[in-house]
Amino acid sequence: MNTAEINRMALRIGMFQRRGLELLQAEALADSCMLRDRDMDDRRACVECKHWQTSGTCAAKQVALPKTMFHRCHKFSWQVPRS
Ligand code: SF4
Repeated sequence: MNTAEINRMALRIGMFQRRGLELLQAEALADSCMLRDRDMDDRRACVECKHWQTSGTCAAKQVALPKTMFHRCHKFSWQVPRS
């Protein structure tokens, strides 16, 4: 893992926890995201999206989705993780 990946992993774990995931779940998803990024896979999880609401709904589509499932969504927009 390089420095950029380590930094991105830490930011993602924090964001996923703030969005309701337990630490182990957040770490596992951040790890899956890193592998996905390395593969240049364009699927995303709703918990990474700025439209995802803590109620489990989507502000863009009004559809509740499994928040950690990778999929393709034309309404996806990055939620930028903050430290
Ligand atoms: S816009 Fe798409 S990816 Fe984003 S929360 Fe809604 S359904 Fe999920």
